[in-house]
Amino acid sequence: MSQLIVQKYGGSSVADAEKIVNVARRVADSAAQGHRMVVVVSAMGRTTDGLLTLASAITSTPDPREMDMLLATGEQVTIGLLAMALQSLGHPACSFTGLQVGLVTDDAHTRARIKRITAERISAALDVGKIVVVAGFQGVTERGDITTLGRGGSDLTGVALAAALKADVCEIFTDVDGVYTADPNVVPEARKLARVSYDEMLEMASLGAKVLQARSVEFAKKYGVPVHVRSTFKPDSGTLVTREDHSMEDVVVTGITHDRGQAKLSILRVPDRPGIAGKVFGGLGAQNIVVDMIVQNISRDGLTDISFTLPRADRQRAEHVLAGIAKDIGAEGVVADDRVAKVSIVGVGMRSHAGVAARMFAAMSTEGINIQMISTSEIAVSCVIEDKYTELAVRALHDAFELGRE
Ligand code: ADP
Ligand code: ASP
Ligand code: MG
Repeated sequence: MSQLIVQKYGGSSVADAEKIVNVARRVADSAAQGHRMVVVVSAMGRTTDGLLTLASAITSTPDPREMDMLLATGEQVTIGLLAMALQSLGHPACSFTGLQVGLVTDDAHTRARIKRITAERISAALDVGKIVVVAGFQGVTERGDITTLGRGGSDLTGVALAAALKADVCEIFTDVDGVYTADPNVVPEARKLARVSYDEMLEMASLGAKVLQARSVEFAKKYGVPVHVRSTFKPDSGTLVTREDHSMEDVVVTGITHDRGQAKLSILRVPDRPGIAGKVFGGLGAQNIVVDMIVQNISRDGLTDISFTLPRADRQRAEHVLAGIAKDIGAEGVVADDRVAKVSIVGVGMRSHAGVAARMFAAMSTEGINIQMISTSEIAVSCVIEDKYTELAVRALHDAFELGRE
């Protein structure tokens, strides 16, 4: 049966000309089966990282609007090349930028949110039998300024186009052949999951499993888009991200994730009185700094320490803001620690099983790993630990919850 399929290919899948031709062949195979094809692509290889490095050689405080102007160029190279590759294989194809497909966002440059997608030109091109190639990661504000959707944002472009076009499926092609019980590059025994629920995938993505961008999973859940994560280089089927069913509850822990992009800030000897936490976190929030875990120590002599984690990329800015707040509220000072990481266990089965967190802490203690902070949600438990123990912790947890076994 003829379907409308959105396929998204990540940076490593289109890293050079040969790989782009390989992608063109895969797309052409699906088109030859009679499917209508929309293909979203990322920038080639590590192009986006390279552009960020270039910008940082010019300024440490780039204007976000100009940053988007720069970053969006990466994807435009790939769409032109892929459309040419498809045409060379004898398939009518046409490429479009975010602006051309009417992907309208708010004006939060570098992390814009999608407001609507017109997709008129996509439908028109599909109607005349073309394969449509779309630049991932980019959109445009109401005023016509170019925006980007946050790192890994091509996943979101793929899912959002699939929702807008009511596609049958959104296939995410990448360098691994599915979603695993842990990052397969860290845990060789990790097992591929045949299916994973939207909620678990969202939690795994938010807690560091970069195989899908968290916002793309949120979007897929909201619009019920079936997402199939699979390999660009192998034909096998991968992992289906889908609605939860009863069998998923039987598994207590579905996956282990880690996030090394964390930092910890502590504000020392703060007066312990009402309104202080509001001042500290209100001040950070006003500067658009999003904090993650928060711990406040027991107060001694009317003074206490408050620690929290945040993305490492925001650490310097946050430290600066916090130093000002510390002075205002009479705190002793601020200390920063970049050598922390977060490891987490995720699973919908946790809702109905007791003792899961205790098993996690026991596994960490057996390895002699000190837990600095803990946080829990309905379907996840996370610990902040010293960065150098990350891989050891992930492997120990994978073993403790017997995730390597069938
Ligand atoms: P792309 O460039 O295709 O968007 P990414 O690098 O963003 O690919 O995502 C794929 C990577 O995600 C894999 O190479 C793998 O190292 C990492 N990853 C982390 N956690 C997981 C997991 N649980 N399952 C599969 N891959 C994972
Ligand atoms: N090129 C962008 C990035 O590296 C978007 C993506 O690959 O999904 O973040
Ligand atoms: Mg990605």
